[in-house]
Amino acid sequence: MTPTATVNAKGEDRIRGGHPWIYRSDVMDVSAERGAVMEVRGPRDRLLGHALFSPESQITLRMLTRDDRLIDIAFWRSRLETAIRFRDTLEIDATAFRLVHGEADLLPSLVVDRYGDYLVVQALSHGMDQMMPAIVSLLVELTGARGILARNDPKVRLLEGLEQKVEVLHGDIPDTIAVREGAINYEVDPRHGQKTGLFLDQRENRDAAARYAQGALLDCFSYNGGFALALASRCQSVEALDISADAVARITANAEANGISNLTAREVNVFDELRHLEREGARYDTIVLDPPAFAKNKASVPKAMAGYKEINLRALRLLTPGGILVTCSCSYNVDEAMFASAIHEASVDAHTPVTVVEKRMQGRDHPVLLGVPETYYLKSFILRKVA
Ligand code: SAH
Repeated sequence: MTPTATVNAKGEDRIRGGHPWIYRSDVMDVSAERGAVMEVRGPRDRLLGHALFSPESQITLRMLTRDDRLIDIAFWRSRLETAIRFRDTLEIDATAFRLVHGEADLLPSLVVDRYGDYLVVQALSHGMDQMMPAIVSLLVELTGARGILARNDPKVRLLEGLEQKVEVLHGDIPDTIAVREGAINYEVDPRHGQKTGLFLDQRENRDAAARYAQGALLDCFSYNGGFALALASRCQSVEALDISADAVARITANAEANGISNLTAREVNVFDELRHLEREGARYDTIVLDPPAFAKNKASVPKAMAGYKEINLRALRLLTPGGILVTCSCSYNVDEAMFASAIHEASVDAHTPVTVVEKRMQGRDHPVLLGVPETYYLKSFILRKVA
């Protein structure tokens, strides 16, 4: 017998509304092994689709289909193929980008990033974890990848009762992989780099920011130099700031490898450094703020809002009139309107009128699924300090 879960009316509405996550409180009855692919039925026994089962998680079901379609190898191949083909159409000017963005590719809890000839994957639910052998052989078939690394170290795996581990699932994975993003070359450390190695979701925002960058640039929360390197050729001088010594060493090495000589990187806490720069009377023509997610959960939203306001206020004070502020938030608990209001408050306190030059989000290889706010996490504004 096919394992089955029965959901209540609220669960049924959610599934009909297109959300793939069904919470434990909406599951009335379930009989299955964890990780199983199961049938999902409504309160009146209507078949609503098929889902992955995560008994340990608050997100108990992740919908794969909304019909009676069989979940076999052909199903997985077709979903992966569709995701990969979409990226082909984007004509991305880089050798590193996201091939599968979980829910938005109708492959909930699966991430696949391409780094040159290699893939880095993440399986973030029990069901996906169990599917990995099949998914790995399909990915090899569809992409010809020389190696596949599982970066299964995100903390969310613990909520599923899964262990955190990094392991090679196919072929060989070198210690560093050379990739190109636009004109910039990177040496990526797929085993230890943040996320799967690079912040691929900011690629298009770096391109966009480069169109306005000029003069003296301050890149805050620089990691391995993403914005600083992409904007350097447009600017007279570039200062990159990060709290991690490792990141600062990488920024410097990346600048050298790309023949960029107008860049210096400093190991500092941005909050302290912005204050310090203000006291010194420093001025910049372009500032980038790309902090880590300040609001990792709902409880930390008020503190996160105060953090966003503070760094944006200080950045606006450091900007020359006519200067450009590229400001980002990757906290999905702080939505676009909240983020905009924090920036507005900052502009009021800085006594400076600010216009929105561009309103942006994560790159097109990280699509947003309508009706699933969790997939819209990265907000980015390109702002101009008018006077
Ligand atoms: N802008 C980067 C990605 C930034 S990720 C890119 O385009 O690729 C966030 C970075 O902020 C991390 O490298 C982290 O080390 C750094 N960071 C976190 N808190 C910080 C703080 N208080 N001061 C300075 N850097 C910080």
